[in-house]
Amino acid sequence: MTAMKQPLGTLLVVSGPSGSGKTTLCRRATENGLCVYSISCTTRQPRPGEVNGVDYHFLTPAEFDARVERGDFLEYAEVHGNRYGTLKADILTLLEQGKNVVMDIDVQGAGQVRSCREGILPLCYVDVYIYVPQAELKNRLCGRQTDGAETIALRLRNAEQEDACLPQYQYCLVSSDRETDYASFCALLKCQSMRVGLMR
Ligand code: 5GP
Repeated sequence: MTAMKQPLGTLLVVSGPSGSGKTTLCRRATENGLCVYSISCTTRQPRPGEVNGVDYHFLTPAEFDARVERGDFLEYAEVHGNRYGTLKADILTLLEQGKNVVMDIDVQGAGQVRSCREGILPLCYVDVYIYVPQAELKNRLCGRQTDGAETIALRLRNAEQEDACLPQYQYCLVSSDRETDYASFCALLKCQSMRVGLMR
């Protein structure tokens, strides 16, 4: 058997509504060394505790526009009144190095990555939607006790719209408890790493 060369990394796109726990899943997998977190650019203000270059690259609207003009983004979208985007160069370099890259992005951005993957992202692309049944999502959002009734109602309406995009994803992770969700997430990464087409 010929020696196996370094395989390409996997690009795992993760979407789901606010309250689905997707950011926690992505961060935990990153902390455990299973993947590298794709740090997005955003025009929103940092929240308390968020660090520039760690949680996001915080840009002014003018800086964001300049990057759009230069074609720096693999995808970008407006979400809840702010702009978010993923830098193309960062992702491609990491994949070439054989790293798994996880992108925590909304359904619009996922659609853009999906539509350009044939050209620049061959077999290494996987996407998963974290689905939370509405009654459970309502419990979670109410349980946080950080948002008012109006915000919760808005998030539930947004979740319905996002859920409508679920059929476009390859995988659906029906959210249960944290540990079960994390085990499913790791299983997805593991299966992908065994795909023969990624060996080169
Ligand atoms: P937050 O501001 O709460 O961190 O994120 C709000 C939403 O923006 C989440 O649904 C998150 O997945 C999405 N998001 C974060 N980064 C990106 C990105 O680079 N591109 C896109 N399209 N969505 C993003």
